[in-house]
Amino acid sequence: MPEQPTPPIPQPSKGAALVDAAGIAARVATLAAEIEAAYGEPAEPLVLICVLKGSLFFTADLARALRLPVLIDFIAVRSYQGTQSGGSVELVKDVGINLHGRDVLVVEDIIDTGLTTSFLLDHLASHRPRSLRLVALLDKQAHRLRQVSVDFRGFTIPDRFVVGYGLDVDERWRNLPDVRTVEGR
Ligand code: 5GP
Repeated sequence: MPEQPTPPIPQPSKGAALVDAAGIAARVATLAAEIEAAYGEPAEPLVLICVLKGSLFFTADLARALRLPVLIDFIAVRSYQGTQSGGSVELVKDVGINLHGRDVLVVEDIIDTGLTTSFLLDHLASHRPRSLRLVALLDKQAHRLRQVSVDFRGFTIPDRFVVGYGLDVDERWRNLPDVRTVEGR
């Protein structure tokens, strides 16, 4: 059998970033101010739910920009691409903190079809939090299949596959400091 050629690793664009590091930092600061204004002075710490793995840097930066008491927990899901009418989403790791009666803010890296986020919101609602809101760094609205109410939005971006600031392609490029499109995708 002849050896199969290894497919080339998709590369991030080399030109200007779609969202540069300074733009991300500035938006994280204003998002933190919007979130503080929305919650006022909560009696209990706000629970930030980091959606693994893509939201890791966004959650870390947002948590440090917030001048509110926060708890941080993690959740992980696996999404399967389906047909135009949808895919399926599976819970891989649930939260550890008891969310019952808590103010919960889901921290998403990117919303595309909305299937993953709506699955997560439905699942987290079953924990019966006091409030459940969503902050998304990036919102790609071109292929939305499920309506999702985004309480706090970083950037609306065009329908391009992006990497960096936590987002990957085959686990690569998460550590880029900015958000870049990927060549050939
Ligand atoms: P959904 O289509 O369910 O809204 O998004 C599913 C997941 O696909 C996201 O949580 C994210 O992990 C991934 N995804 C969607 N668009 C992009 C993109 O442009 N870049 C990367 N790296 N992941 C994406």
